[in-house]
Amino acid sequence: MIVPVTDPAVLEGYLRDASNLRGHAERLYRPRTTAEVAELLRDCQAQALPVTVSARRTSTTGGPVPMGGAILSTEQLATVHSLHEVDAGVLLGEFQAHVEAAGRFFPPDPTSRHECSVGGAIVCNASGSRTFKYGPMRPWVEWVEAVLADGTVVQADRSTPLPWPVPQWKEPHVKTAAGLYPATNLLDLLIGSEGVLGVVTRARLRLAPLPPAVLAMLVFLPTRESLLAFLPRARALGPRAIESFDRRALDLVRGRLPEVPAADCAVMLEIEHDGEPPLDPWFELLTDVGALVDDTVVATDDTQLHRLHALRHAVPALVNEIIAHNGVQKVGTDFAVPHDRLGELLALYDAVPMAAVCFGHIGDSHLHLNLLPRDAEELGRARALYFELARAAVAMGGTVSGEHGIGRLKKAHLALMVPPAVLDGWRQLKARVDPAGILGRGVMFDRG
Ligand SMILES: Cc1cc2nc3c(=O)[nH]c(=O)nc-3n(C[C@H](O)[C@H](O)[C@H](O)COP(=O)(O)OP(=O)(O)OC[C@H]3O[C@@H](n4cnc5c(N)ncnc54)[C@H](O)[C@@H]3O)c2cc1C
Repeated sequence: MIVPVTDPAVLEGYLRDASNLRGHAERLYRPRTTAEVAELLRDCQAQALPVTVSARRTSTTGGPVPMGGAILSTEQLATVHSLHEVDAGVLLGEFQAHVEAAGRFFPPDPTSRHECSVGGAIVCNASGSRTFKYGPMRPWVEWVEAVLADGTVVQADRSTPLPWPVPQWKEPHVKTAAGLYPATNLLDLLIGSEGVLGVVTRARLRLAPLPPAVLAMLVFLPTRESLLAFLPRARALGPRAIESFDRRALDLVRGRLPEVPAADCAVMLEIEHDGEPPLDPWFELLTDVGALVDDTVVATDDTQLHRLHALRHAVPALVNEIIAHNGVQKVGTDFAVPHDRLGELLALYDAVPMAAVCFGHIGDSHLHLNLLPRDAEELGRARALYFELARAAVAMGGTVSGEHGIGRLKKAHLALMVPPAVLDGWRQLKARVDPAGILGRGVMFDRG
């Protein structure tokens, strides 16, 4: 029998995630094994006690924030069993370092990888810059062990049939992490399920060969037109990442980062390529689209690469500083749209009548517009604006979440994208898997 922690001072550390949403809970459990997770869930089920799974709380959508009941922390499920197989609570960045030391490579690289868990990344189907080439977590997960809400332990790979009917629906043809996957096997259903169906306790992951070298470039393009001419040809050159920072983001950091040219430019791209590709096609392309070729930075060794990564992280860090200074919540979009609608999305993002910066995974046409409200009144306007932008992204055939998921905060946006019959189907599925509705109550969709 695991003894819960009830000390409010300890519980306090588990009541918020990166969205800054604050919840409340009566007790905290930190199981060490799958068997303990199963025992706990059986007890909670018997008492109809809500349980929120909490890993590292880097979610930006309130998913791990408890709204009463118990918190089930995965932090002590932390064993690395072999090169491929780890407990859910292991930090993703630690797992990646471990496989890279053995000459292998685990590509999915959420920016939060040094703070988030493997299990959290699996159930959020997390992505990162390298998703452009390698995809999100889904194709890299081969098998999981999980405990369903009633305490049943399951082991699932892609040959494991679905025990229940799962609504089939057409996900948008873009990078997406919104809603339950139209799965045909149990593993794919659990990936991206945000903890509402079961607790993932252990996973076996697929590894790739470690790229022998990585080339990175900073590229500066003068206009929107040059960007839209550049992207299709750049994608075809096979990079692993194309990340972007708009003019407003550059204006924020100009002067603090010597690589950012003094000259006005519409966008800075950070491009990464596995191996040592010939540079000629890249420079030909840059010249063709009128890039600021003399300002291009090329990094080939580790020191230069780290410098470029530090630069890439400096922009979001500065945004967070500004937000903390203003004392309000950031309102950040996570929409992805089909490539041929990217220009329209960028035009909408340019036109927002509020301080904002835009950066993200432009290779996947997936961008984060961060609205920077200065007070509560602007925060209200930013939220209304967000909703309208979500509606527009869906109308373009896009998704309301390319990577951050739905959690507690984006359920209204999910309903813009998913037909009511599918939402009903998910509620019926949830009622079968978790009749008392104890697990992740209020996450992704309401019980109805
Ligand atoms: C600075 C920053 C950068 C980020 N960058 C990215 C990015 O580039 N790409 C990206 O995709 N995301 C990103 N995120 C979002 C977040 O880091 C990821 O979604 C991450 O996968 C969450 O992992 P976690 O361990 O923190 O899980 P938590 O935040 O603790 O939980 C997330 C959700 O999963 C559930 N859950 C967690 N573990 C389990 C489990 N073992 N079984 C069942 N349910 C579980 C929780 O109940 C919750 O609903 C970023 C967040 C921050 C703060």
